[in-house]
Amino acid sequence: MPLEIHQIPIMRDNYVYLLRDGETGQVAVVDPGEAGPVGEALDRLGWTLTHILITHHHHDHTGGVGALKARTGCSVVAAKADLGRIDAVDVAVADGDRLAIGDSVADVLAVPGHTLGHVAYWFAEDKALFCGDTLFSLGCGRLFEGDARQMWRSLCALRALGDDARVFCAHEYTNANADFALSVDPANAALKARAADVLALREKGMPTVPAPMGAERRCNPFLRADAADLQRAVGMVGCDPADVFAEIRRRKDSF
Ligand SMILES: [Zn+2]
Repeated sequence: MPLEIHQIPIMRDNYVYLLRDGETGQVAVVDPGEAGPVGEALDRLGWTLTHILITHHHHDHTGGVGALKARTGCSVVAAKADLGRIDAVDVAVADGDRLAIGDSVADVLAVPGHTLGHVAYWFAEDKALFCGDTLFSLGCGRLFEGDARQMWRSLCALRALGDDARVFCAHEYTNANADFALSVDPANAALKARAADVLALREKGMPTVPAPMGAERRCNPFLRADAADLQRAVGMVGCDPADVFAEIRRRKDSF
């Protein structure tokens, strides 16, 4: 049975996700930055929380962990590398581990760059990727702890999951990201079409997330550092993609 996924907008522009395994009724929440809206959604849906999955240690992804665990006794899953930075972890995971939510299984992918301990959870059967602040629609996370080479490698690993992977990222940044993407890749027709779709969705107050990986592969400049036309657009034909990525990230930081 497919995983049921419920999206909860919290704070200014964060998304928290509830995942329910249809076979067993086990429920996980990904990156609960606040407990209140998650508790309300659980009550409304009649779902009982069994797991908390954390992608990285930032407070807007972990602020609700203590209260949700106290309320439900659920099991808290986070990266081994983040132990000591996140309280109340029950299950420490690392790259290559598999994690079961009932009959639904996620692969744990280490994706350092935004933070060094950042992990993503990939439910291959459901084509659902929970990638926190590593990959955004039309953007990527800032390099707070890792370097450009690490982040490029992490993004390549996510891109390799396939065009039909659904990118459940942790922020609604797509419209602002589109402005920057168009500034570095102005001739990209797929990007122009996606930017128009994004604007129309936001004007209706609708989410632009999840986005299919195929669209990201064609439109997101941070996934296109090895594409000849983007390299030409930024004046770096034939350069190491990690260096091209670093240059695009630098431009975004001062955009
Ligand atoms: Zn973060």
